[in-house]
Amino acid sequence: MADIVIPAEFLPTDGRFGCGPSKIRGAQLESLVTRGATILGTSHRQKPVKDLVGSVREGLATMFDLPDGYEVVLGNGGSTAFWDAAAFGLIEQRAENLSFGEFGSKFAKAAAAPWLQAPHVVEAPGGSRSELEIVEGVDVYAYPHNETSTGVMAPVVRAQGDPGALTVVDATSAAGGVSFDASATDVYYFAPQKNFASDGGLWLALFSPAAIERVARIAASGRYIPEFLSLQNAVDNSRLNQTLNTPALTTLLLLDDQVSWINGSGGLAWADTRTKTSSSTLYDWAESVDWASPFVSDPSHRSQVVATIDLDDSIDAAAVAAVLRQNGIVDTEPYRKLGRNQLRVATFTAIDPDDVQQLVRAITYVVGALAD
Ligand SMILES: *Cc1c(COP(=O)(O)O)cnc(C)c1O
Repeated sequence: MADIVIPAEFLPTDGRFGCGPSKIRGAQLESLVTRGATILGTSHRQKPVKDLVGSVREGLATMFDLPDGYEVVLGNGGSTAFWDAAAFGLIEQRAENLSFGEFGSKFAKAAAAPWLQAPHVVEAPGGSRSELEIVEGVDVYAYPHNETSTGVMAPVVRAQGDPGALTVVDATSAAGGVSFDASATDVYYFAPQKNFASDGGLWLALFSPAAIERVARIAASGRYIPEFLSLQNAVDNSRLNQTLNTPALTTLLLLDDQVSWINGSGGLAWADTRTKTSSSTLYDWAESVDWASPFVSDPSHRSQVVATIDLDDSIDAAAVAAVLRQNGIVDTEPYRKLGRNQLRVATFTAIDPDDVQQLVRAITYVVGALAD
């Protein structure tokens, strides 16, 4: 590996550009030590931790301008666990799954559970996206708000399907970084290790009244539902600011701090502008040089929180990422299964737009140095 040292003037102040776990701000870590001193290592059944969970739920309700009757629900296991929970407790008979990358396809697999009808899967190749198709008998329409594996974003719109059909959005990498209208969704679920600059292991979701009613109906139907994956259980516990089993308190503390920081900085609209600024820096740059180009060819499909940039075949993107890593700029490798000559850069809310500009300078320097 070439021993290339990037001059300090081209380095970002923080070199974390990964898509999750992702950059955690220094102030969050400090608050972990100060505020955490009275919370970490104490019972999650007592008031201090319940108040922390309550603060997270209230902060998210504020951030997302939660419509009347919607509730913030949470549980252990991250977004991957949510897919299985949805197969048990949210999909009545059949889901439609938009699949245009790794994460959408994973939910489609979970929705192919033996007690359900085979899902209607609408696929599109990586780098583009598929559109909702209205299908009779589908009771859950599911799609990612942001497909993290490819850097493709979809607008949050309600599927106008059968009466009572639910719109369920995987917002794991979009939530907290992209503006949207919560009333267009029935379930908007995510995990805290992306725009929320926390650790993984938890799922959080905004549930509409229709989704809460669906969960109750399936729970009462006699269908077998494992306790750990029971959404009714999650709803009941969340209302008490609790989780079924022990949550990671560090994750909750970091999350709560990030939610307060975003709300105090101007809320979701502010975060949205910030991530747009950062991602535009990357797309504009990639379009301005002849050796890089945005992987997502349709600008209206491009993600504002995950930018995927293809490099010309004459440049080894893996070598570029490796040199960046040696210089403290980490996790710019592409999604492993995509197999492209590409850099993938998170432009999550915590990431400073100035640092993204520096990243472009660092990449330019490394590409020049590798060519020498
Ligand atoms: C990261 C990610 C997931 C997986 O989240 P886990 O908490 O690791 O299960 C799911 N969907 C999307 C869109 C993601 O970006």
